[in-house]
Amino acid sequence: MKGMIIRHGNRKKWVIALTFDDGPQEPYTGQILDLLAKYSIKATFFLTGEKVEQNPDIVRRIISDGHEVGNHSYSHKTMRCRPLKWLRTEIEKADEQLLQAGACQPISFRPPFGRTSFLLISLLKKMKKKMILWDIGPKDYKYAHPYEIVGKVLKKIKPGSIIVLHDGGGDRSVTVETVNILVKDIREMGYKFVTISELID
Ligand SMILES: [Zn+2]
Repeated sequence: MKGMIIRHGNRKKWVIALTFDDGPQEPYTGQILDLLAKYSIKATFFLTGEKVEQNPDIVRRIISDGHEVGNHSYSHKTMRCRPLKWLRTEIEKADEQLLQAGACQPISFRPPFGRTSFLLISLLKKMKKKMILWDIGPKDYKYAHPYEIVGKVLKKIKPGSIIVLHDGGGDRSVTVETVNILVKDIREMGYKFVTISELID
């Protein structure tokens, strides 16, 4: 199973992957897409199948803007202590929605809450899917001020880092403001933004 659980990319390459979980959720996803377009940056969105089904247009925009999409399960329930069939259905149903919206295979997977298990890992291996975790999770949903989140990221950032922010799950306007500041700061440090598939290539 070596190489199938990813927490970061090559530590010698001056690249960063910005990822967004729990969307799509308007207006935040669209606002983040506007910012990414303004700065000419590509990111990766780990979407839940349920929300893709409800908002297919914004998913098509994510893809047509050149970003990558990943599978974040269908219903965003914890995947611990679940039977194999339940796990498989959660992953397959989300893939189905993503493919319908125009995603391309292989679609990587990020478990809800980053919670994993041996059963889930062995299933993903059978499905030839990589599990994408992160090394920088500033818990953007907990903070009221973008600078708190930016500070947390900049303190931990390293070549190859995977940053996770959230474009869904409540009011995400602080995350939108954070992206605007963070992207400029990271670029000034000389990093290039890449998608997850580019990061692990
Ligand atoms: Zn999530």
